[in-house]
Amino acid sequence: MSLKSFFGGFLAVVATTVSLSGVAFAQHLNMGNPSGAVASTSYPSNYLMNKPQFSLSYHRDRGTPNWVSWQLNSTWLGSQPRLDNFRADTSLPSGWYRVGSTDYSGSGYDRGHNCPSADRTRNSTDNGSTFLMTNMIPQTPDNNQGPWARLEDYTRSLVSGGTKDAYVIMASRGTRGTIANGRVTAPTNIYKVILVVNRGTTASGVTTSARVIAVRIPNTTGIRNSDWRSYRVSVDTVEAETGYNFLSSVPTSVQSVIEARVDNL
Ligand code: MN
Repeated sequence: MSLKSFFGGFLAVVATTVSLSGVAFAQHLNMGNPSGAVASTSYPSNYLMNKPQFSLSYHRDRGTPNWVSWQLNSTWLGSQPRLDNFRADTSLPSGWYRVGSTDYSGSGYDRGHNCPSADRTRNSTDNGSTFLMTNMIPQTPDNNQGPWARLEDYTRSLVSGGTKDAYVIMASRGTRGTIANGRVTAPTNIYKVILVVNRGTTASGVTTSARVIAVRIPNTTGIRNSDWRSYRVSVDTVEAETGYNFLSSVPTSVQSVIEARVDNL
């Protein structure tokens, strides 16, 4: 064995160990934890869940995530077809209601993914993770299948060439109504913040030339044919309406510039 292959094997073992310990999952929060979510049952309205495929803040009493954050680049994209294996998330703390695959039935709302199925097509494990009900909100079909879906497609087009990382955070706020006997709350507004950087860029390396796309799309009907671009706002607006701090690990001098702009490409 050459010295090079010895060290290659050593590094592979180290990488495996880090992955198994969960440290590697933090990649989805490279740019920050918008609400300061904590992985403790003492925080039932802001409960941090880190998965290999995405991180989220869960709200026990709304039965939905407050936000879901994930890294997207070409390494996450493959040929795995969507599994449609909607199911309860058994990793929720014991004693918390686990929203089930049929809890949205007959409500008129779609089981709206936060991290999209099509963003996790490398293998069946990754794709199946997106069908956990902790990744869902009640989303109107016009929103979900209209401008929201087209923004998801557009985001994938930005990274498919292999040179870019996108950091995507989907958040929702407000109460349009409840379903599942009050166990699940449908939000009034749905937000997305997308930071696009060159592959491997760290939070401290983000510059004021980085592209940021932020949108606020109402969770309503009659918008199926609307252009997602018409819903663009600044991150500052999203922060004011949600109370979250997006991209909080990016230097504040850079945040103040890129969060005040409204994308216009
Ligand atoms: Mn911010």
